[in-house]
Amino acid sequence: MINTEAYNSLLEELKLTNTTLVAVSKTKPALDIEELYRLGQRDFGENYVQELVEKEALLTKDIRWHFIGHLQSNKVKYIAPFIHLIHGVDSFSLLKEINKQAAKHSRVIDCLLQIFIAEEETKFGFDENEIDQLFSENNLSNLNNIRIVGMMGMASFSENDEKVKAEFKKLKNLFDKYGTLTIANCQLSIISMGMSGDYKIAIAEGSTMVRIGSLLFGSR
Ligand SMILES: *Cc1c(COP(=O)(O)O)cnc(C)c1O
Repeated sequence: MINTEAYNSLLEELKLTNTTLVAVSKTKPALDIEELYRLGQRDFGENYVQELVEKEALLTKDIRWHFIGHLQSNKVKYIAPFIHLIHGVDSFSLLKEINKQAAKHSRVIDCLLQIFIAEEETKFGFDENEIDQLFSENNLSNLNNIRIVGMMGMASFSENDEKVKAEFKKLKNLFDKYGTLTIANCQLSIISMGMSGDYKIAIAEGSTMVRIGSLLFGSR
C-alpha cells in the first residue's frame, strides 16, 4: 500500500523547485511499484542488484530504474542492459567496469559520483581529494560508454539539522567546483541528495534529485 496523499503533496512541493523524485522501492513488492506507476511515477530506486533484476523482469519496460546502493564490480553486468542511472559510483575501477559492461550492450550509462559527506565511517564515497584527482587525471575521457552526470551524497542520520545542512553544503560546493567541466563525457547537472527524513533541507541546499522511500511506501 502506498501513501497517495503523501505522494501528491510531495510532487507539488518538488514541482516548485524542479526537483526530480526517485521513489525508493527497495524491499517493497512489485504491486506497490505498479500502484505508484499508475499515478504517473516513472523513476524508481533500488539498492540490491538481485532484487532490482527480479523487479525489472516483472514490470513494464518504461520504468527508469536507478541503482542507489553500493555497487560491487562483479554485479555490474546484471544491471548494465537496462539501468537508467547509477547513483553510487565510488571508485575509478567501478567506472571502468561500468564502461566495459555498457559497451557490451552498446549503451552509454549515466553515473553519479558518490561523495562522502557524513561523519559515519560506514558510508561510501569519494572525498574531495579523490575527486580532484579523478578529474585532473586525463583517463576519464577514454571511457566512451559512461557519462558522469552529477554527484550523490548521504548526510548523517542526525536530529541536528545544522549538521545535515553543512554536509549537504559540502556536496553542493564540490558540485559547483566541477559544474563547468568540459570533458566530453562529464556534464554535471544532477545533485542527488535528500531522503524521507532530510529532503527539505537537501532541497534548500540545492538538491535536484531526491531519493524517497518510507514517506511513500511506509516503513521497511
Ligand atoms: C533507502 C535509501 C533511501 C530512501 O530512504 P527513506 O528514508 O526510506 O526515504 C535513499 N537513498 C539511499 C541510498 C537509500 O539506501
